[in-house]
Amino acid sequence: MPSLSRLPIFALLLTVAAMLNGCQQQPEPPTAPDAAPAATDSDASARENESAAARPAQMAANFDPARLDIYAPFKLQADLSHLSLRQQQLLVKLIEASRIMDQLFWAQAWGDRDALLTDIDDAGLRRFADINYGPWDRLDGDRPFLRDVGAKPPGARFYPADMSKQEFEDWDQPGKTGLYSLVRRDERGALSLLPYHTVWADELARAADCLRDAAELADNQAFANYLRMRAEAILSDDYLASDMAWMEMKDNPIELVYGPIETYEDQLFGYRAAYEAYVLIKDLDWSERLARFADYLPELQRGLPVADVYKQESPGSDADLGAYDVIYYAGHSNAGSKTIAINLPNDERVQLQKGTRRLQLKNAMRAKFDQILLPIADQLIAADQREHVTFDAFFANTMFHEVAHGLGIKNTINNNGSVREALREHASWLEEGKADVLGLYMIEQLRQRDEISDGELMDNYVTFLASIFRSVRFGSSSAHGQANLVRFNFFREQGAFSRDADSGLYRIDPQRFAAASENLSRLILTIQGDGDHPTATALLKDQGSIPADLKQDLQRLAARDIAVDIVFEQGIETAGLTEAAARLSTAEH
Ligand SMILES: [Zn+2]
Repeated sequence: MPSLSRLPIFALLLTVAAMLNGCQQQPEPPTAPDAAPAATDSDASARENESAAARPAQMAANFDPARLDIYAPFKLQADLSHLSLRQQQLLVKLIEASRIMDQLFWAQAWGDRDALLTDIDDAGLRRFADINYGPWDRLDGDRPFLRDVGAKPPGARFYPADMSKQEFEDWDQPGKTGLYSLVRRDERGALSLLPYHTVWADELARAADCLRDAAELADNQAFANYLRMRAEAILSDDYLASDMAWMEMKDNPIELVYGPIETYEDQLFGYRAAYEAYVLIKDLDWSERLARFADYLPELQRGLPVADVYKQESPGSDADLGAYDVIYYAGHSNAGSKTIAINLPNDERVQLQKGTRRLQLKNAMRAKFDQILLPIADQLIAADQREHVTFDAFFANTMFHEVAHGLGIKNTINNNGSVREALREHASWLEEGKADVLGLYMIEQLRQRDEISDGELMDNYVTFLASIFRSVRFGSSSAHGQANLVRFNFFREQGAFSRDADSGLYRIDPQRFAAASENLSRLILTIQGDGDHPTATALLKDQGSIPADLKQDLQRLAARDIAVDIVFEQGIETAGLTEAAARLSTAEH
């Protein structure tokens, strides 16, 4: 038997994890780069003999090493001083439960995390693989950055690698388009469905234990019930009841989003949901302000700058809006680009009965503001207008974007069916574009009514322009990227801002900015109401590409190493929960 000191740390961790029953505390998973998982002993000795020069060979030949620095680090922390020890211990349990979502997302996106990371010698590359949950660059169209890995399978690990789209479509199998199963081949090579709750029965049983332990610690009864129902749900893949319960949550200071939720990772069909989690602390002051703003929706709908027939629907004033700080992201939500606003649940049955909840993630917004938006403004906004790029304005613009999705209309005015059906591939970018300009409209209106008094409207405008530069960096393939490009070109044509050719700096003209915003609002609301697909096509064709000077400006940002997105330092220690966790483990033993 080998002596303990010669066993690799990694193997020890696995042994410890395997011996634990239920939701007991486990060591935090090693995070790249400093604490890389140790290699198995034979591999390690083989690698020690490799020359240092051999290391970069793992990097794909056409991969630009500068990409390794596109993520700026940010510590996920929140004010926990109003929470009791028990509530802080509850957070520890939620973080432990979330780590399991992280493991399962790795399995869905790539396979064995530790095996992949162990094989990468270069610390920067290893860290990049960890951020991307695999060897493909998520912010560059999934381009492989390791040699010999090939293209990312569009169906990730949800489907057999050798399955064609046609084979799936020809497959006569009830439930094959469901959210919560893997498609695999049986021993005869035929396709079969494996429900998540059977594939990952052990991991999910542990996760359910964590959620139930957390429920025991919860002071808020509604939240405790939700946690117990969510535990049931992950063990049965039936989420309806817990989604309904989540909609009832109003005054709990702690919040959890948990389970297989979004389907973007399944790029083959968009059917299958990926595991993720967010552990959130509610910002009670801001949430109260948000609730008040929602009361204005009907009045603001009536005041939209468009003919009456395009505003004939009445928005609900019961939109549930809240501001939160996140202390833990796991799985899909932590892969690549980080979400700063959540709108859930996705289940249409719940949406029809109860609507959705919108969660604004304040500290994650702060991270993007500090690490990305301010440095962009320093490079691209005229010096005398730069002071108008403020966090309050960024937060308000982002938040009212979400609220503004509720304005306008959902159905065409000429029997063309729903706006979404009529506009097809243009529906998403127009809807995002609408929310951006109508968010600005809401801010103008609420400022006139003195409901918003911090800063000035000019802050919202200049910050809005700086945000366009941030968003177009995501490229013209995403709905947000398209909406921002169209707006950039439209606004410029209307003189909302100008670019100084010598300095490459942009300056806004507030009067024209307001007029351009109103004109674009009217145009989008009209296209949506008419379900006018040809005009949408023409607008994207005319205004949807990156002009040459903007392209240069974006290259300038890249040359200055301005981050494209953020990566979190997070966990029990970072969140300030070490003491709560220690007292929890004393109580358990
Ligand atoms: Zn949106």
